[in-house]
Amino acid sequence: MEPALPPTPLAEPLRYTCHCGRIRVAIAAKPAFVNECQCSVCYKLGAIWGYFERRQVDVTTADDATLQAYIRSDENGDGDVSFNRCSHCGSLVSWTRVPGKPEDGGEKTGINCRLLEPKELEGLDRRRGTGPPRKIKKAA
Ligand SMILES: [Zn+2]
Ligand SMILES: [Zn+2]
Repeated sequence: MEPALPPTPLAEPLRYTCHCGRIRVAIAAKPAFVNECQCSVCYKLGAIWGYFERRQVDVTTADDATLQAYIRSDENGDGDVSFNRCSHCGSLVSWTRVPGKPEDGGEKTGINCRLLEPKELEGLDRRRGTGPPRKIKKAA
């Protein structure tokens, strides 16, 4: 999780899938950079995020698969971000904001660029951000 720089629009959308092919993703822009987020969730998920406006991303799901959500609830997020993976092969596809939560930007999404071919990542600035500032949970 990191604020997005404007991605560069592409003439043709970049299309790719999860490992089993049931989740198809098309992105209309190349990310300004990719981020191997070092926060507690993303580190364990092994994600390399590209950040987009939701309108730049089209995700379609085959009839025999769904996007399964893991909704983060920890020091960095209180049910406001969903990590979405293919129900069949387990590939992590995206994070999205959970509607109606205080931080519901609505317009921002992260796409796991590990689903792209390695050559698509060539030349991109590769960062290791730490994610958003950690919220201190108050003792009950
Ligand atoms: Zn899959
Ligand atoms: Zn993160």
